[in-house]
Amino acid sequence: MKVIECPQIALETVQRWRHQGLTVGLVPTMGALHPGHLSLVEQSMAHCDKTVATIFVNPTQFGPNEDFSRYPRTLEQDLSGLDALKVDMAFVPLPDTLYPAGYSTYVEPPEVAHPLEGVHRPGHFRGVATIVLKLFQILPVSVAYFGQKDFQQLAVIRRMVQDLNVPVRVQGCPTLREPDGLAMSSRNRYLSAQQRPAALSLWTALQTAERLFVQGVRSAEALELAMTNVLIEGGADSIDYARVVDAYSLADIDTVEKTAVALIAARIGPTRLIDNLLLEV
Ligand code: AMP
Repeated sequence: MKVIECPQIALETVQRWRHQGLTVGLVPTMGALHPGHLSLVEQSMAHCDKTVATIFVNPTQFGPNEDFSRYPRTLEQDLSGLDALKVDMAFVPLPDTLYPAGYSTYVEPPEVAHPLEGVHRPGHFRGVATIVLKLFQILPVSVAYFGQKDFQQLAVIRRMVQDLNVPVRVQGCPTLREPDGLAMSSRNRYLSAQQRPAALSLWTALQTAERLFVQGVRSAEALELAMTNVLIEGGADSIDYARVVDAYSLADIDTVEKTAVALIAARIGPTRLIDNLLLEV
């Protein structure tokens, strides 16, 4: 596996592959890799001739009071995991390379970035859209793989790619879960053994919404109330949102008439977790 820090070398390598007629898949990550990340890598390896994974904890997508400085960094382990899968390139740029002194250009994210995370993490999607567009410039790949675990992020990237005519196909991939249902996340390692059961309340709440939906409940408010109750009973310390919205636009709905998505962001102790589940009509 090539481990590359330099954007110019990364660009030339991907360009060479593309000129040879090879398809190239990209899996952007912030590292602290878990099987969820590796499932994206496996998708890319299965469908593309070459696979590039990136590891970069992007400072511009963290708010001033968020966990940027203590975000888990496990580079050596991550690289050996990617190498074991026979990934072709790991792109691991240094922060100063991507954001040198004087850096001041940002992507204004699309409307779908405004609700939900947009309300609770102002500036987050501006940072995400900016780094993802920069990665698409440095790594002109055929397909980019993103997890549905970050449902709104996937919607933001799809819209940005469409709006800005970025020549890449965006492929969403299913959420990998622990055996009990907790969505795998780099932030799960912040959870103490005592907090771990409460973290499961997100998945229990989503499953409750799905069960009610299957039983015929179509009121978004009723589904949201049911999720909120499960989160409170399950030990969530605070809830940023527990919503049922249109799955495409993420706009508010009164009644589920076409595919909707239930999305939750909640804190277990200081750890903020997100999860979601599609409600397909
Ligand atoms: P992150 O390192 O958290 O920025 O995540 C990198 C990519 O992995 C994003 O596209 C995430 O949506 C995806 N991802 C994170 N957790 C999971 C999971 N449990 N299952 C599938 N994909 C995931």
